[in-house]
Amino acid sequence: MKINTAEFVISNQDVSKCPKNRIPEYAFIGRSNVGKSSLINMLADHKNLAKTSGRPGKTQLINHFLINKEWYLVDLPGYGYARVSKSNKKKFQKFITNYFEQREQLVSAFVLVDIRHEPQPIDMEFMEYLGVNGIPFSIIFTKADKLKPNAIDRNVEVYKNILLESIWEEIPPYFITSSSHKTGRDEVLNYIQSINEN
Ligand code: GDP
Repeated sequence: MKINTAEFVISNQDVSKCPKNRIPEYAFIGRSNVGKSSLINMLADHKNLAKTSGRPGKTQLINHFLINKEWYLVDLPGYGYARVSKSNKKKFQKFITNYFEQREQLVSAFVLVDIRHEPQPIDMEFMEYLGVNGIPFSIIFTKADKLKPNAIDRNVEVYKNILLESIWEEIPPYFITSSSHKTGRDEVLNYIQSINEN
């Protein structure tokens, strides 16, 4: 998919204020610092798209970007260490769970995880939350430039095994990316295009 236009549309914390049209959307989410802004800027071929919507604090918002006037790229707040607690509701602020449970235009989520790290409970719980709520998702491994190919394969295997040992019967689609080296971009964009065309 060639990116012709990428425009910031709206930021808010209230799913009822998200765009009302029926344009399909794809949500990007992951732990703080996972490389989400860098990935969004790489996908959109735009140096500062993910940050242009932002003043400090604005990261705690649902940000809609319109790509090629065809689909929304939705930048969701990073979940993080600070919000780890026993209850899902506290881990993932209520407006985020409202988004996932109410947003009919959402086609699929992309859960970003740092390829260098072992699966973290908060990420696995979040994927489980998506599964329980019937929300399709893919995994995007970030920062692949930091590892050698065999270490990448090994870490992906660990994820696959953990997913299959938990509630999953099959592995969700996954993408290995590096925003620094601009890898994985076509794979993610072509995947989105293939869904949009169906
Ligand atoms: P966010 O908090 O998830 O939006 O993460 P950022 O995109 O701001 O990235 C967090 C840090 O990781 C920054 O220092 C980035 O330069 C770095 N980073 C992001 N993507 C990559 C990548 O693909 N490779 C490497 N080596 N570093 C990255």
